Amino acid sequence: MFQRFYLSFGLILALTVLALGLCLVWGGFSRDTWPWLFPTAAAAGLALGAAAAIAFNYRVSSSLNEVTLGLQSIGMGLGGKKIFNDDPSPLGNLVRAFNLMATRLEERMELLERDRQQLLTMLSGMVEGVVALDNEQRILFVNERADSLLELSSAVGKRLWEVVRNPELRELAGQALEGKKPKLREISWPGEGKKRLTVHAARLEGARGAVLVIHDTTELRRLERLRQDFVANVSHELKTPLAVMKVCVETLLDGALDDQENAPHFLHRIQEQTERLNLLILDLLSLARIESGSELFEVAPVEVLQAAEQCVERHGDRARARGQKLVLQPMNGPLTPPPGLSALVDEESLLQILDNLVDNALKYSPEGKTIEVRYGVEGNQVILQVRDDGIGIPQEDLTRVFERFFRVDKARSRQLGGTGLGLAIVKHLVSAMKGTIRGESSPGHGSTFTVRLPMA
Ligand code: ADP
Repeated sequence: MFQRFYLSFGLILALTVLALGLCLVWGGFSRDTWPWLFPTAAAAGLALGAAAAIAFNYRVSSSLNEVTLGLQSIGMGLGGKKIFNDDPSPLGNLVRAFNLMATRLEERMELLERDRQQLLTMLSGMVEGVVALDNEQRILFVNERADSLLELSSAVGKRLWEVVRNPELRELAGQALEGKKPKLREISWPGEGKKRLTVHAARLEGARGAVLVIHDTTELRRLERLRQDFVANVSHELKTPLAVMKVCVETLLDGALDDQENAPHFLHRIQEQTERLNLLILDLLSLARIESGSELFEVAPVEVLQAAEQCVERHGDRARARGQKLVLQPMNGPLTPPPGLSALVDEESLLQILDNLVDNALKYSPEGKTIEVRYGVEGNQVILQVRDDGIGIPQEDLTRVFERFFRVDKARSRQLGGTGLGLAIVKHLVSAMKGTIRGESSPGHGSTFTVRLPMA
């Protein structure tokens, strides 16, 4: 401010003195010219000086105003706009420096925004939930996964304890904010299907807050439980025949071998249990191969009628021996199959599916009953149906019969030589052939298993 005042004052003075000097040179040093020449020169000098000072001040003020406006706009986060000034003076340098600074700042802001967007895209694409908290447990950020896992939508800005009822998660967040070491805990999350969540909570030293990374381990735990159940079931299934065989062998060794009358009975029992073990191991191997994906399926068009005929032929003698009727027939109405109807499947697997279903129908139907194998077409799917008038399956067990080792009546299944794995194998094979299976039943009236497979 003072600088501008001194500069203006100096300018006026210099121009006045210059005007005076010029007048003196022009008018000479005669006494006659003094009375009018001096005031005229002084007035002209003053006027010129004042005009020059006003112009100079105007220029300086407008440039400074523009710089001020630019800085204010940067301060408000709107970015600095460029100022045009080609003045070589220090003020021009200041304006150019401002322009350079505004350009650099804009570039930095763009870079920061791009990084921020990248980070947000990465976080929202993560399979883990991420929740960021400040030092007072106020929620700063929730990614989409955390939102769906913890149902935290519109929770940003609120405290964790206001929106989360689970005491374990709140306690974990508190511990992470207080302590130095990251915390890891598995918590159970109430709600639909009761989830198991593994939460990794760590304090953010620099940012003064904490971050929670949440993994949904529900499926993992379910699979673990299934594996444990499976191992327990297999052990149990192997233990029983082995125990029977052990007792029989010990009895024979203890002298029953010489007992002509009873020895064959024990040997027969051993043979029975060996057969049971054999069936169980074959089924287990088959299931393991299908599940691991190591079973090689040769998918090709297979004539459905031929496959069904083979199956009926194979089980014919057994059905006749039990006084049961095993019939093969096409479906009626709109489901009537065209001649040469083929499914796009692995032939051996299709035969195994039909064998298991017909075997069950024969096993769980009393003597004299009829078992129907039917085939038809619906849309672009081949339908195969095995229907019996047997003992049926209670409604609550209908979905469970496809589980490994699930039996409605354990004793009856064992007595009939069942392993409890037949329908599990069927289900896996049907899925591998990109098909579906459905069971319908009415206890005491029979069951129907319907398989849908892709048409060739
Ligand atoms: P299993 O070797 O015991 O027959 P599966 O896996 O083939 O094992 O079948 C599981 C259970 O489903 C059987 O133990 C039986 O209780 C029931 N089940 C299967 N098919 C039929 C059917 N056609 N009629 C009645 N019950 C059936």
